[in-house]
Amino acid sequence: MAASPPVFRFAPSPNGRLHLGHALSALANERLAARFGGRLLLRIEDIDPGRCRPDYEQGVRDDLAWLGIAFDGAVRRQSEHLDDYRAALERLAGQGLIYPCFCSRQEVKAAIAAREGDGRLWPRDPDGAPLYPGTCRTIAPDEAAARIAAGAPHVLRLAMGRALDAASTMPGGPLGWRNFDDAGGLAAVAADPARWGDAVLARREVPTSYHLSVVVDDALQGVSHVVRGRDLEAATDIHVLLQRLLGLPTPLYRFHPLLTDEAGRKLAKSRGSRSLAELRAEGATPAAIRARLGFT
Ligand code: GLU
Repeated sequence: MAASPPVFRFAPSPNGRLHLGHALSALANERLAARFGGRLLLRIEDIDPGRCRPDYEQGVRDDLAWLGIAFDGAVRRQSEHLDDYRAALERLAGQGLIYPCFCSRQEVKAAIAAREGDGRLWPRDPDGAPLYPGTCRTIAPDEAAARIAAGAPHVLRLAMGRALDAASTMPGGPLGWRNFDDAGGLAAVAADPARWGDAVLARREVPTSYHLSVVVDDALQGVSHVVRGRDLEAATDIHVLLQRLLGLPTPLYRFHPLLTDEAGRKLAKSRGSRSLAELRAEGATPAAIRARLGFT
């Protein structure tokens, strides 16, 4: 029986126009999909209702079409699949691995400040955010249910300690993944999800999160090869843990270097990096963009 072709995906968030960093990521996926004889899917990661906008999504699609990147199959828009994420949350809840957290940002900050009062530095996650101190982890289930029924705003957090215990009893060996190179060579990477603490899996304003949606979608779309920036390598710790807990396959991964500005900082919409649309308006051609990024 012939093996099914590899599946790659480019998964932008439509919360602004694409810049050169996105183009690099999309072109890296395009090149690797071609090299491995794979399919390339487009997924719109639009779960953040406060920041994602339909006109940005149109901009993303226009920019990708202008660059000449062709995608296979139907586009998956995350905001249309909240039921899939809910089902995953229910599965984790059934294993006793998530809990509601009612803390406001200020309450979390205050709890951490109190713990740092004695001069110790409270641990940070790989993105630099203090780990959640666990305030709501011990709320009794009926009390939590009553607060939710009364309409108290809350997020859902992964109980990291319990999740790691549960994962250690499941088949698959130590948690980790494999990075793939151009020649198809594989390098094993060990995951250390504990450094993220009790990560948020469902937010106040939307019943999912980046981590949960990306894991559910990669599995539902049959993604076999994930190609994304190095800024998401550490988050893969949580992704492989969720894959194990949800019984989902772990794809192969590849993390490309990030483009930086003159000051050495990662390109970001928030720092006003020039968008592809602006570069195009200034006369850049798709061929020039491809050449500038090393894709000739
Ligand atoms: N939507 C994410 C972003 O735009 C990418 C997610 C991923 O590739 O896993 O940064």
